[in-house]
Amino acid sequence: MTSSEHDELNVYKSAEARFETAVQKLGLEDGLYRYLKYPSKEITVYIPVALDNGQLEVFTGYRVLHSAVRGPGKGGIRFAPDVSLDEVRALAAWMTWKCALVDIPFGGAKGGVICDPSKLSKTEVERITRRYTAELSEWLGPERDIPAPDIGTNSQTMAWVMDTYSMHVRQATTAVVTGKPFELGGSRGRTEATGRGLMICCDKALAKLKMKREGCRVIIQGFGNVGSQAAMLMHAAGYKIIGVADIHGGLHNENGFDVPKLVDWVYNQRKPLPEFPGGGSKMTAQEVLFHPCEILVPAATENQITTKNVHRVDCKILCEGANGPTTWHADPVIDQKGIFIIPDILGNAGGVTVSYFEWVQDRQGFFWREDEVNDRLKRFMEHSFDTVMKYAETHGVNNRIAAYIVAVDRVARALKLRGIYA
Ligand code: NAD
Repeated sequence: MTSSEHDELNVYKSAEARFETAVQKLGLEDGLYRYLKYPSKEITVYIPVALDNGQLEVFTGYRVLHSAVRGPGKGGIRFAPDVSLDEVRALAAWMTWKCALVDIPFGGAKGGVICDPSKLSKTEVERITRRYTAELSEWLGPERDIPAPDIGTNSQTMAWVMDTYSMHVRQATTAVVTGKPFELGGSRGRTEATGRGLMICCDKALAKLKMKREGCRVIIQGFGNVGSQAAMLMHAAGYKIIGVADIHGGLHNENGFDVPKLVDWVYNQRKPLPEFPGGGSKMTAQEVLFHPCEILVPAATENQITTKNVHRVDCKILCEGANGPTTWHADPVIDQKGIFIIPDILGNAGGVTVSYFEWVQDRQGFFWREDEVNDRLKRFMEHSFDTVMKYAETHGVNNRIAAYIVAVDRVARALKLRGIYA
Protein backbone atom coordinates (compact mmCIF):
# COMPACT_ATOMS: atom_id res chain seq x y z
CA MET A 1 0.00 0.00 0.00
CA THR A 2 1.40 3.43 -0.92
CA SER A 3 1.58 6.13 1.75
CA SER A 4 -1.23 8.12 0.09
CA GLU A 5 -3.45 4.98 0.06
CA HIS A 6 -2.55 4.44 3.69
CA ASP A 7 -3.50 8.05 4.39
CA GLU A 8 -6.82 7.66 2.62
CA LEU A 9 -7.73 4.57 4.64
CA ASN A 10 -6.85 6.12 8.00
CA VAL A 11 -10.33 6.83 9.38
CA TYR A 12 -8.97 9.26 11.94
CA LYS A 13 -7.61 11.36 9.06
CA SER A 14 -11.00 11.16 7.33
CA ALA A 15 -12.76 12.38 10.47
CA GLU A 16 -10.17 15.11 10.94
CA ALA A 17 -10.31 16.34 7.33
CA ARG A 18 -14.07 16.82 7.43
CA PHE A 19 -13.90 18.45 10.86
CA GLU A 20 -11.24 20.85 9.57
CA THR A 21 -13.33 21.81 6.54
CA ALA A 22 -16.20 22.62 8.90
CA VAL A 23 -13.90 24.61 11.17
CA GLN A 24 -12.64 26.70 8.23
CA LYS A 25 -16.16 27.40 6.96
CA LEU A 26 -17.24 28.36 10.48
CA GLY A 27 -14.17 30.55 11.00
CA LEU A 28 -13.67 28.92 14.39
CA GLU A 29 -10.88 30.46 16.46
CA ASP A 30 -7.66 28.50 16.73
CA GLY A 31 -7.84 27.64 20.43
CA LEU A 32 -11.36 26.21 20.14
CA TYR A 33 -10.29 24.28 17.06
CA ARG A 34 -7.46 22.63 18.96
CA TYR A 35 -9.66 21.92 21.98
CA LEU A 36 -12.23 20.14 19.81
CA LYS A 37 -9.70 18.35 17.64
CA TYR A 38 -8.03 16.26 20.33
CA PRO A 39 -9.80 13.65 22.47
CA SER A 40 -10.33 14.51 26.09
CA LYS A 41 -9.13 11.10 27.30
CA GLU A 42 -7.67 7.95 25.77
CA ILE A 43 -7.40 4.81 27.85
CA THR A 44 -5.67 1.59 26.83
CA VAL A 45 -6.26 -1.53 28.90
CA TYR A 46 -4.62 -4.93 28.71
CA ILE A 47 -7.16 -7.56 29.62
CA PRO A 48 -5.93 -10.90 30.95
CA VAL A 49 -8.47 -13.63 30.24
CA ALA A 50 -8.36 -17.35 30.87
CA LEU A 51 -9.54 -19.11 27.70
CA ASP A 52 -11.72 -22.22 27.93
CA ASN A 53 -8.68 -24.44 27.30
CA GLY A 54 -6.97 -22.99 30.38
CA GLN A 55 -4.51 -20.86 28.40
CA LEU A 56 -4.03 -17.24 29.53
CA GLU A 57 -4.51 -14.64 26.80
CA VAL A 58 -4.07 -10.87 27.06
CA PHE A 59 -6.39 -8.72 24.91
CA THR A 60 -5.89 -5.01 24.20
CA GLY A 61 -8.85 -2.70 24.71
CA TYR A 62 -9.44 1.03 24.29
CA ARG A 63 -11.91 3.63 25.44
CA VAL A 64 -11.66 7.12 24.01
CA LEU A 65 -13.69 9.99 25.39
CA HIS A 66 -13.56 12.56 22.64
CA SER A 67 -15.73 15.22 24.26
CA ALA A 68 -17.89 15.67 27.34
CA VAL A 69 -18.69 19.31 26.56
CA ARG A 70 -22.43 18.80 25.91
CA GLY A 71 -22.92 15.91 28.34
CA PRO A 72 -21.53 12.50 29.28
CA GLY A 73 -19.62 10.53 26.67
CA LYS A 74 -21.72 8.23 24.50
CA GLY A 75 -20.58 5.56 22.10
CA GLY A 76 -20.45 1.88 21.32
CA ILE A 77 -17.98 -0.87 22.09
CA ARG A 78 -16.56 -2.73 19.10
CA PHE A 79 -15.12 -6.25 19.32
CA ALA A 80 -13.17 -6.95 16.13
CA PRO A 81 -9.71 -8.22 15.15
CA ASP A 82 -8.74 -5.01 13.35
CA VAL A 83 -9.70 -2.51 16.08
CA SER A 84 -7.02 0.19 16.44
CA LEU A 85 -6.61 3.28 18.58
CA ASP A 86 -6.89 5.53 15.51
CA GLU A 87 -10.16 3.84 14.56
CA VAL A 88 -11.59 4.24 18.08
CA ARG A 89 -10.47 7.90 18.10
CA ALA A 90 -12.26 8.56 14.82
CA LEU A 91 -15.40 6.77 15.98
CA ALA A 92 -15.38 8.73 19.26
CA ALA A 93 -15.12 12.06 17.40
CA TRP A 94 -17.95 11.03 15.07
CA MET A 95 -20.08 10.33 18.14
CA THR A 96 -19.49 13.89 19.39
CA TRP A 97 -20.65 15.35 16.07
CA LYS A 98 -23.54 12.89 15.73
CA CYS A 99 -24.95 13.60 19.20
CA ALA A 100 -24.64 17.34 18.59
CA LEU A 101 -26.27 17.05 15.17
CA VAL A 102 -29.38 15.30 16.52
CA ASP A 103 -29.20 17.63 19.51
CA ILE A 104 -29.11 15.13 22.35
CA PRO A 105 -27.23 16.01 25.55
CA PHE A 106 -24.21 13.76 25.09
CA GLY A 107 -20.59 14.09 24.16
CA GLY A 108 -18.77 11.45 22.14
CA ALA A 109 -16.89 8.31 23.11
CA LYS A 110 -16.09 4.89 21.70
CA GLY A 111 -14.47 1.69 22.84
CA GLY A 112 -13.01 -1.39 21.29
CA VAL A 113 -11.26 -4.64 22.05
CA ILE A 114 -8.95 -6.38 19.59
CA CYS A 115 -10.50 -9.84 19.42
CA ASP A 116 -12.47 -12.00 17.04
CA PRO A 117 -15.78 -12.95 18.71
CA SER A 118 -16.47 -15.52 15.97
CA LYS A 119 -13.47 -17.53 17.23
CA LEU A 120 -14.31 -17.20 20.95
CA SER A 121 -16.86 -19.06 23.05
CA LYS A 122 -19.70 -17.18 24.73
CA THR A 123 -18.03 -17.53 28.13
CA GLU A 124 -14.72 -16.21 26.77
CA VAL A 125 -16.51 -13.16 25.32
CA GLU A 126 -18.24 -12.69 28.68
CA ARG A 127 -14.91 -12.76 30.54
CA ILE A 128 -13.36 -10.24 28.11
CA THR A 129 -16.38 -7.95 28.50
CA ARG A 130 -16.40 -8.13 32.29
CA ARG A 131 -12.68 -7.51 32.71
CA TYR A 132 -12.73 -4.69 30.14
CA THR A 133 -15.63 -3.08 32.06
CA ALA A 134 -13.90 -3.61 35.42
CA GLU A 135 -10.73 -1.92 34.14
CA LEU A 136 -12.78 1.06 32.97
CA SER A 137 -15.30 1.16 35.81
CA GLU A 138 -14.11 4.46 37.26
CA TRP A 139 -14.45 6.18 33.86
CA LEU A 140 -17.90 4.81 33.00
CA GLY A 141 -21.23 5.84 34.52
CA PRO A 142 -24.61 7.32 33.60
CA GLU A 143 -23.17 10.83 34.06
CA ARG A 144 -19.69 10.03 32.75
CA ASP A 145 -19.56 7.73 29.78
CA ILE A 146 -22.30 5.41 28.53
CA PRO A 147 -21.40 2.54 26.16
CA ALA A 148 -23.69 0.81 23.65
CA PRO A 149 -23.35 -2.04 21.14
CA ASP A 150 -21.35 -1.78 17.94
CA ILE A 151 -19.73 -4.31 15.59
CA GLY A 152 -19.26 -7.64 17.37
CA THR A 153 -21.25 -6.70 20.49
CA ASN A 154 -24.98 -6.89 21.23
CA SER A 155 -27.61 -6.62 23.96
CA GLN A 156 -26.12 -9.59 25.85
CA THR A 157 -22.72 -7.85 25.92
CA MET A 158 -24.41 -4.74 27.29
CA ALA A 159 -26.13 -6.83 30.00
CA TRP A 160 -22.67 -8.03 31.14
CA VAL A 161 -21.34 -4.46 31.13
CA MET A 162 -24.33 -3.31 33.20
CA ASP A 163 -23.96 -6.19 35.68
CA THR A 164 -20.19 -5.76 36.09
CA TYR A 165 -20.46 -2.00 36.58
CA SER A 166 -23.38 -2.46 39.02
CA MET A 167 -21.30 -4.91 41.10
CA HIS A 168 -18.47 -2.35 41.30
CA VAL A 169 -20.68 0.55 42.41
CA ARG A 170 -22.82 -1.73 44.61
CA GLN A 171 -26.15 -0.73 43.11
CA ALA A 172 -28.10 -1.74 40.03
CA THR A 173 -27.25 0.98 37.50
CA THR A 174 -29.20 0.35 34.33
CA ALA A 175 -28.42 3.76 32.77
CA VAL A 176 -24.69 2.98 32.49
CA VAL A 177 -25.24 1.32 29.10
CA THR A 178 -27.83 1.42 26.34
CA GLY A 179 -28.85 -1.26 23.88
CA LYS A 180 -29.63 -3.58 26.83
CA PRO A 181 -32.29 -6.31 26.88
CA PHE A 182 -35.80 -5.04 27.87
CA GLU A 183 -35.61 -7.09 31.07
CA LEU A 184 -32.77 -4.84 32.26
CA GLY A 185 -34.16 -1.46 31.27
CA GLY A 186 -33.66 -1.60 27.52
CA SER A 187 -35.90 0.52 25.32
CA ARG A 188 -38.57 -0.69 22.97
CA GLY A 189 -37.49 0.03 19.42
CA ARG A 190 -33.72 0.18 20.12
CA THR A 191 -32.84 -2.88 18.02
CA GLU A 192 -34.53 -1.41 14.95
CA ALA A 193 -33.60 2.22 15.70
CA THR A 194 -30.55 2.65 13.45
CA GLY A 195 -32.28 0.93 10.52
CA ARG A 196 -35.45 2.93 11.16
CA GLY A 197 -33.47 6.19 11.24
CA LEU A 198 -31.89 5.28 7.90
CA MET A 199 -35.31 4.68 6.38
CA ILE A 200 -36.67 7.96 7.74
CA CYS A 201 -33.74 9.77 6.05
CA CYS A 202 -34.31 7.87 2.80
CA ASP A 203 -38.02 8.80 2.87
CA LYS A 204 -37.08 12.45 3.34
CA ALA A 205 -34.51 12.30 0.53
CA LEU A 206 -37.04 10.69 -1.83
CA ALA A 207 -39.56 13.42 -1.07
CA LYS A 208 -36.90 16.05 -1.74
CA LEU A 209 -35.90 14.47 -5.03
CA LYS A 210 -39.56 13.88 -5.98
CA MET A 211 -39.07 10.11 -6.13
CA LYS A 212 -41.31 7.32 -4.82
CA ARG A 213 -40.69 4.32 -2.58
CA GLU A 214 -42.41 1.97 -4.99
CA GLY A 215 -39.89 0.42 -7.36
CA CYS A 216 -37.05 2.21 -5.62
CA ARG A 217 -34.10 -0.22 -5.78
CA VAL A 218 -31.96 -0.46 -2.66
CA ILE A 219 -28.61 -2.16 -2.11
CA ILE A 220 -27.46 -2.78 1.46
CA GLN A 221 -23.94 -3.89 2.34
CA GLY A 222 -23.74 -5.39 5.84
CA PHE A 223 -26.45 -7.62 7.27
CA GLY A 224 -25.91 -7.17 11.00
CA ASN A 225 -27.95 -5.08 13.37
CA VAL A 226 -28.04 -2.03 11.10
CA GLY A 227 -28.22 -3.65 7.66
CA SER A 228 -30.73 -6.41 8.41
CA GLN A 229 -33.08 -4.10 10.31
CA ALA A 230 -32.92 -1.48 7.56
CA ALA A 231 -33.63 -4.21 4.99
CA MET A 232 -36.64 -5.53 6.94
CA LEU A 233 -38.18 -2.10 7.51
CA MET A 234 -37.53 -0.82 3.99
CA HIS A 235 -38.86 -4.03 2.42
CA ALA A 236 -42.03 -3.80 4.52
CA ALA A 237 -42.42 -0.14 3.50
CA GLY A 238 -42.34 -0.93 -0.24
CA TYR A 239 -38.70 -0.43 -1.17
CA LYS A 240 -37.16 -3.15 -3.37
CA ILE A 241 -34.02 -4.64 -1.83
CA ILE A 242 -32.00 -5.86 -4.84
CA GLY A 243 -28.56 -6.27 -3.29
CA VAL A 244 -27.28 -7.52 0.07
CA ALA A 245 -23.90 -8.54 1.46
CA ASP A 246 -22.19 -9.60 4.63
CA ILE A 247 -18.68 -10.73 5.52
CA HIS A 248 -19.25 -13.99 3.58
CA GLY A 249 -20.08 -12.27 0.28
CA GLY A 250 -22.78 -10.51 -1.71
CA LEU A 251 -25.96 -11.38 -3.59
CA HIS A 252 -27.76 -9.45 -6.31
CA ASN A 253 -31.32 -10.04 -7.53
CA GLU A 254 -32.92 -7.39 -9.75
CA ASN A 255 -36.39 -8.78 -8.87
CA GLY A 256 -35.86 -7.99 -5.20
CA PHE A 257 -35.31 -10.29 -2.23
CA ASP A 258 -37.91 -11.74 0.09
CA VAL A 259 -36.22 -10.08 3.06
CA PRO A 260 -38.06 -11.90 5.92
CA LYS A 261 -36.98 -15.22 4.33
CA LEU A 262 -33.41 -13.96 3.98
CA VAL A 263 -33.37 -12.86 7.64
CA ASP A 264 -34.72 -16.26 8.65
CA TRP A 265 -31.98 -17.96 6.56
CA VAL A 266 -29.17 -15.92 8.11
CA TYR A 267 -30.41 -15.56 11.70
CA ASN A 268 -32.64 -18.57 12.49
CA GLN A 269 -31.11 -21.18 10.22
CA ARG A 270 -27.63 -19.66 10.72
CA LYS A 271 -26.66 -20.23 7.08
CA PRO A 272 -24.19 -18.13 5.03
CA LEU A 273 -25.93 -15.20 3.33
CA PRO A 274 -24.50 -15.89 -0.16
CA GLU A 275 -26.00 -19.42 -0.08
CA PHE A 276 -29.56 -18.06 0.25
CA PRO A 277 -31.74 -20.25 -1.97
CA GLY A 278 -34.24 -17.46 -2.75
CA GLY A 279 -32.52 -16.38 -5.99
CA GLY A 280 -29.76 -13.98 -6.88
CA SER A 281 -26.25 -14.02 -8.31
CA LYS A 282 -23.28 -14.37 -5.98
CA MET A 283 -20.43 -11.88 -5.86
CA THR A 284 -17.96 -10.38 -3.44
CA ALA A 285 -19.26 -8.22 -0.61
CA GLN A 286 -17.73 -5.17 -2.30
CA GLU A 287 -18.92 -5.86 -5.82
CA VAL A 288 -22.53 -5.51 -4.70
CA LEU A 289 -21.92 -1.79 -4.12
CA PHE A 290 -21.48 -1.10 -7.83
CA HIS A 291 -24.78 -2.34 -9.24
CA PRO A 292 -27.15 0.38 -10.43
CA CYS A 293 -29.74 1.31 -7.81
CA GLU A 294 -31.62 4.31 -6.52
CA ILE A 295 -30.37 3.99 -2.92
CA LEU A 296 -27.05 2.56 -1.78
CA VAL A 297 -26.69 1.82 1.95
CA PRO A 298 -23.19 0.80 3.04
CA ALA A 299 -23.92 -0.56 6.54
CA ALA A 300 -20.94 -2.83 7.24
CA THR A 301 -17.68 -1.14 7.99
CA GLU A 302 -15.34 1.73 7.09
CA ASN A 303 -13.53 2.55 3.84
CA GLN A 304 -15.79 0.69 1.42
CA ILE A 305 -16.06 3.54 -1.09
CA THR A 306 -12.61 4.88 -1.96
CA THR A 307 -10.85 6.73 -4.81
CA LYS A 308 -10.19 3.28 -6.32
CA ASN A 309 -13.86 2.41 -6.79
CA VAL A 310 -16.01 5.53 -6.31
CA HIS A 311 -16.30 6.01 -10.10
CA ARG A 312 -18.23 2.70 -10.17
CA VAL A 313 -20.90 3.78 -7.67
CA ASP A 314 -24.19 4.09 -9.57
CA CYS A 315 -26.91 5.39 -7.26
CA LYS A 316 -28.98 8.53 -6.76
CA ILE A 317 -28.85 8.51 -2.96
CA LEU A 318 -25.95 7.32 -0.83
CA CYS A 319 -27.25 6.72 2.66
CA GLU A 320 -24.42 5.84 5.04
CA GLY A 321 -25.39 3.27 7.66
CA ALA A 322 -21.85 2.41 8.73
CA ASN A 323 -19.55 4.95 10.27
CA GLY A 324 -17.03 6.21 7.74
CA PRO A 325 -17.90 3.95 4.76
CA THR A 326 -16.75 6.64 2.29
CA THR A 327 -13.21 8.03 2.46
CA TRP A 328 -12.78 11.77 2.43
CA HIS A 329 -10.72 11.48 -0.75
CA ALA A 330 -13.79 9.95 -2.43
CA ASP A 331 -16.16 12.73 -1.29
CA PRO A 332 -15.47 15.10 -4.24
CA VAL A 333 -16.30 12.37 -6.77
CA ILE A 334 -19.62 11.68 -5.01
CA ASP A 335 -20.36 15.41 -5.38
CA GLN A 336 -19.26 15.51 -9.04
CA LYS A 337 -21.58 12.59 -9.79
CA GLY A 338 -24.48 14.55 -8.29
CA ILE A 339 -25.20 11.82 -5.74
CA PHE A 340 -27.39 12.98 -2.87
CA ILE A 341 -25.49 12.03 0.27
CA ILE A 342 -26.99 11.29 3.65
CA PRO A 343 -23.78 11.34 5.71
CA ASP A 344 -23.14 8.80 8.45
CA ILE A 345 -23.48 11.26 11.33
CA LEU A 346 -27.04 11.93 10.14
CA GLY A 347 -28.06 8.63 8.50
CA ASN A 348 -27.14 6.28 11.32
CA ALA A 349 -28.02 8.64 14.20
CA GLY A 350 -31.27 6.77 14.92
CA GLY A 351 -29.34 4.32 17.10
CA VAL A 352 -27.88 6.89 19.44
CA THR A 353 -31.16 8.82 19.49
CA VAL A 354 -33.06 5.82 20.86
CA SER A 355 -30.08 5.15 23.16
CA TYR A 356 -30.75 8.63 24.54
CA PHE A 357 -34.42 7.68 24.99
CA GLU A 358 -33.31 4.52 26.79
CA TRP A 359 -31.07 6.50 29.15
CA VAL A 360 -33.93 8.93 29.84
CA GLN A 361 -36.33 6.04 30.55
CA ASP A 362 -33.82 4.31 32.85
CA ARG A 363 -33.26 7.48 34.85
CA GLN A 364 -37.00 8.14 35.09
CA GLY A 365 -37.83 4.51 35.79
CA PHE A 366 -40.74 5.03 33.42
CA PHE A 367 -40.87 3.18 30.12
CA TRP A 368 -42.46 4.21 26.87
CA ARG A 369 -44.52 2.21 24.40
CA GLU A 370 -42.85 1.28 21.11
CA ASP A 371 -45.04 3.68 19.10
CA GLU A 372 -44.00 6.52 21.43
CA VAL A 373 -40.32 5.69 20.87
CA ASN A 374 -40.77 5.47 17.10
CA ASP A 375 -42.77 8.72 16.88
CA ARG A 376 -40.15 10.60 18.86
CA LEU A 377 -37.36 9.08 16.77
CA LYS A 378 -39.12 10.22 13.60
CA ARG A 379 -39.39 13.77 14.92
CA PHE A 380 -35.70 13.91 15.89
CA MET A 381 -34.51 12.45 12.57
CA GLU A 382 -36.75 14.60 10.39
CA HIS A 383 -35.80 17.73 12.24
CA SER A 384 -32.07 16.93 11.96
CA PHE A 385 -32.46 16.11 8.26
CA ASP A 386 -34.25 19.42 7.63
CA THR A 387 -31.61 21.35 9.57
CA VAL A 388 -28.82 19.85 7.44
CA MET A 389 -30.68 20.53 4.18
CA LYS A 390 -31.37 24.11 5.15
CA TYR A 391 -27.75 24.72 6.04
CA ALA A 392 -26.46 23.05 2.86
CA GLU A 393 -28.80 25.09 0.67
CA THR A 394 -28.22 28.41 2.40
CA HIS A 395 -24.43 28.07 2.49
CA GLY A 396 -23.81 26.18 -0.75
CA VAL A 397 -22.00 23.22 0.83
CA ASN A 398 -22.66 19.51 0.45
CA ASN A 399 -24.81 17.64 2.96
CA ARG A 400 -21.83 16.09 4.73
CA ILE A 401 -20.07 19.37 5.38
CA ALA A 402 -23.39 20.99 6.35
CA ALA A 403 -23.92 18.26 8.96
CA TYR A 404 -20.43 18.77 10.36
CA ILE A 405 -20.83 22.55 10.47
CA VAL A 406 -24.15 22.34 12.37
CA ALA A 407 -22.60 19.84 14.83
CA VAL A 408 -19.24 21.56 15.36
CA ASP A 409 -20.97 24.91 15.82
CA ARG A 410 -23.23 23.46 18.56
CA VAL A 411 -20.30 21.95 20.45
CA ALA A 412 -18.23 25.14 20.08
CA ARG A 413 -21.10 27.27 21.42
CA ALA A 414 -21.51 24.97 24.42
CA LEU A 415 -17.77 25.12 25.05
CA LYS A 416 -17.74 28.92 24.92
CA LEU A 417 -20.59 29.07 27.43
CA ARG A 418 -18.86 26.66 29.80
CA GLY A 419 -15.53 28.45 29.47
CA ILE A 420 -12.21 26.89 30.35
CA TYR A 421 -11.66 25.71 33.93
CA ALA A 422 -8.07 26.49 34.83
P1 NAD B 1 -22.86 -5.97 13.29
O1 NAD B 1 -21.67 -6.59 13.88
O2 NAD B 1 -24.21 -6.28 13.85
O3 NAD B 1 -22.94 -6.28 11.72
C1 NAD B 1 -21.90 -6.01 10.82
C2 NAD B 1 -22.29 -6.61 9.48
O4 NAD B 1 -21.34 -6.24 8.49
C3 NAD B 1 -22.32 -8.15 9.49
O5 NAD B 1 -23.36 -8.59 8.64
C4 NAD B 1 -20.95 -8.52 8.90
O6 NAD B 1 -20.96 -9.80 8.31
C5 NAD B 1 -20.82 -7.43 7.87
N1 NAD B 1 -19.46 -7.14 7.45
C6 NAD B 1 -18.36 -6.95 8.21
N2 NAD B 1 -17.30 -6.68 7.43
C7 NAD B 1 -17.75 -6.68 6.16
C8 NAD B 1 -17.16 -6.47 4.90
N3 NAD B 1 -15.86 -6.19 4.78
N4 NAD B 1 -17.94 -6.53 3.79
C9 NAD B 1 -19.25 -6.80 3.90
N5 NAD B 1 -19.87 -7.03 5.06
C10 NAD B 1 -19.13 -6.97 6.17
O7 NAD B 1 -22.62 -4.38 13.32
P2 NAD B 1 -23.69 -3.22 13.24
O8 NAD B 1 -24.08 -2.85 14.61
O9 NAD B 1 -24.73 -3.56 12.23
O10 NAD B 1 -22.79 -2.02 12.70
C11 NAD B 1 -22.51 -1.85 11.31
C12 NAD B 1 -21.98 -0.44 11.09
O11 NAD B 1 -22.94 0.51 11.55
C13 NAD B 1 -20.70 -0.09 11.86
O12 NAD B 1 -19.96 0.84 11.09
C14 NAD B 1 -21.21 0.60 13.12
O13 NAD B 1 -20.25 1.46 13.69
C15 NAD B 1 -22.36 1.37 12.52
N6 NAD B 1 -23.40 1.78 13.47
C16 NAD B 1 -24.04 0.88 14.25
C17 NAD B 1 -25.07 1.29 15.10
C18 NAD B 1 -25.88 0.33 15.91
O14 NAD B 1 -26.88 0.78 16.51
N7 NAD B 1 -25.56 -0.94 15.97
C19 NAD B 1 -25.40 2.65 15.15
C20 NAD B 1 -24.72 3.56 14.36
C21 NAD B 1 -23.72 3.10 13.50
